[in-house]
Amino acid sequence: MKFFDSLVAELDGITAPLEKKSCSVGNAWKDAGSNQVIMKRDTAFELDGVGFNLITAEKTADEIVVIGDDLGKINTDGGFARIAVIEIEDNGDEQAAYKLIKKIEYVKYHCFPDGYMSRSTSRSHKEAVRVSKKAVADGISFQSVGSLLIKKYKEIPEVRGVRLIFITDPRANFGKIEKLAIKNREITETLNHVMNSINFDCDTCNLKAICDEVEGMKELHFKNSENG
Ligand code: SF4
Repeated sequence: MKFFDSLVAELDGITAPLEKKSCSVGNAWKDAGSNQVIMKRDTAFELDGVGFNLITAEKTADEIVVIGDDLGKINTDGGFARIAVIEIEDNGDEQAAYKLIKKIEYVKYHCFPDGYMSRSTSRSHKEAVRVSKKAVADGISFQSVGSLLIKKYKEIPEVRGVRLIFITDPRANFGKIEKLAIKNREITETLNHVMNSINFDCDTCNLKAICDEVEGMKELHFKNSENG
């Protein structure tokens, strides 16, 4: 599964000039077990931005990378990005890899860090987070939230490694990161079409621009339409 590798490389380029803190996976933050509502009056701050996964078969070690202030240091609302680079076991079966991408996408809906209310939808790359005053007082950090999230991802046996990147540094190019998130969604939607439609007609297809750009996508649709 190489469809997202160029986006991982682009992400590395965008974050290259920024100062990073690397943390190991350690004590996970408490999981509240279900969706929580944090009222405005109990909120320390809100972060608004994007959250998405980049799936790869390239070797990826478990790591949490923090770029910018950590949760304990933030005292005003601001921009944010959360990107998970996820290595999966790839045995060349595209249908299995495609199903795995879907499964991985749903992990975030089953992870509820206590005092860290995350809102996102499956149709969008947008993600907003509200952090409670109590969680800040109790020492919440990206390392502890990230450890919980990585633990959840790794409950899927085919997930080999996760590099989770949290960005709050206002010097980060959030515009470019959002473009990356949009491209990631477009590739995923194209993959969705390629895996589920036997209609192979590039001349009339509105996904042609993505297929022209992403190596191997057309071949995959051709193979799938033949098998359909
Ligand atoms: S291979 Fe052709 S028909 Fe299939 S999604 Fe791409 S452009 Fe559309």
